[in-house]
Amino acid sequence: MCIKNSRYIAVLVFCFLLSVFSYTESLTNRIIVIDPGHGTKNSGGKIVNYGCKSSHGTKEMDVVVDISELLGTEFQKKGATVYFTRTKKDFWRIAESQEDDNKQRAEFANEKEADVFLRVHCNWAPNKKKRGALVLWYKKDSEKMAETVYKEIKKSGIKVDGIRKQHLVGFEFANVPAILVEYGYLSNSRDEKLLKDKEYIKKISRAIVKGFEKHFLIRNNKSNISEKE
Ligand SMILES: [Zn+2]
Repeated sequence: MCIKNSRYIAVLVFCFLLSVFSYTESLTNRIIVIDPGHGTKNSGGKIVNYGCKSSHGTKEMDVVVDISELLGTEFQKKGATVYFTRTKKDFWRIAESQEDDNKQRAEFANEKEADVFLRVHCNWAPNKKKRGALVLWYKKDSEKMAETVYKEIKKSGIKVDGIRKQHLVGFEFANVPAILVEYGYLSNSRDEKLLKDKEYIKKISRAIVKGFEKHFLIRNNKSNISEKE
């Protein structure tokens, strides 16, 4: 092998290792606020943010907490710092109305100076055949992030229901990039089973995390280029 060729190969190997390194490191020290939806009572003890329920009695406010804990673990494995707006241990949030509750969740993400405010929900539709994961975003700063995450979910083979811009109180008050993932439909019995299946939840959560890894990698590369300019 001539010296010219071996130099060329060394450069290629270096570039490859650099890209692998930046890819796996793109979530290190990122702040992720995970927001399992619903599960809120007012000061009088009345539930003000209930969520949906399947015909078999599966409640969204229960399922999203389990999903969020698995999702949080996947982010932590990548070195991210994760905060939750509610957990199994601290199940109930207190707010006087659903609107006030969603505003406070967004403000929590703002206070943490989150890189991502990630809202976790399950969907419901009168059409029982409707299935799949849906990604929502609202502000311009969240659009690219939502698209990258959605593409990754789709690529993983998970059934998807789409991506769209939607005005929600939780988005309106968020000053940090925010997206909402509806993991599936509780009105569909196949989705309902999947939403309680740990392996399925891990699969979709890993795809979501991979989407964020890609998003931050692209952003890092862009900011490196603009710094050089
Ligand atoms: Zn919901």
